[in-house]
Amino acid sequence: MPRAVERLAQLQAHLVTSAKQSGRPAPVLLAVSKTRDSSEITALNAAGQHRFGENYVQEAISKMRELVGNNIEWHLIGHLQSNKAKDVATHFDWVQSVDRIKLVDALARHRPGDRGALNLLVQVNIDDEASKHGCTPADAEAICEAIATHESLALRGLMAIPAPSVDVDVRRTAFHDMRLLFDQLRERFPSMDTLSMGMSDDADLAISEGSTMVRIGTALFGPRPAK
Ligand SMILES: *Cc1c(COP(=O)(O)O)cnc(C)c1O
Repeated sequence: MPRAVERLAQLQAHLVTSAKQSGRPAPVLLAVSKTRDSSEITALNAAGQHRFGENYVQEAISKMRELVGNNIEWHLIGHLQSNKAKDVATHFDWVQSVDRIKLVDALARHRPGDRGALNLLVQVNIDDEASKHGCTPADAEAICEAIATHESLALRGLMAIPAPSVDVDVRRTAFHDMRLLFDQLRERFPSMDTLSMGMSDDADLAISEGSTMVRIGTALFGPRPAK
């Protein structure tokens, strides 16, 4: 049995325990498969893992072509340039990295009519002033509003990648602030059901602050090979 398949069962059990300890529902697991080849994805998919996250558009599309016919839900979690909006709207099921209105409009325009609504998360830059990606917390509402006006898009929630801080309290605050923003926006946009935060190193912390989806690469597949 491939290591990743063994780790999948352990990780699923761990997520349930971790959530229970914080009195929260178990989060959804997104398997982050960037740099991993199609055979590794197939093995996990056969073991019951349905959702996969990719960072790079071309890499993802070539895997989708190889894996056509599998029951896989594809999430884009990497930064998205506007000139790739058509490829992304055509091929992906979810986009987690929406951080500007221009991108919302491009995705809406290019979503094929026969594919159903494209699920979107608004990426919020909650704490990392140095990062160019993610909107400010103050801008999130206007982007949600823009998404909600398009029938070809479904507003599902928020995503964050807090700065990797050694200080646990700093990271906890970032996750906590994201959950507050999520709860606040959800009152106005009831279709929001997903708060994507937490990776291999900080999933437990994110879960304890109310993450509903963790994005895990290394803890499933092992260390990424150098590119
Ligand atoms: C690579 C990546 C992950 C997974 O990171 P790991 O530390 O390998 O679990 C999660 N989210 C995003 C946005 C990523 O780019």
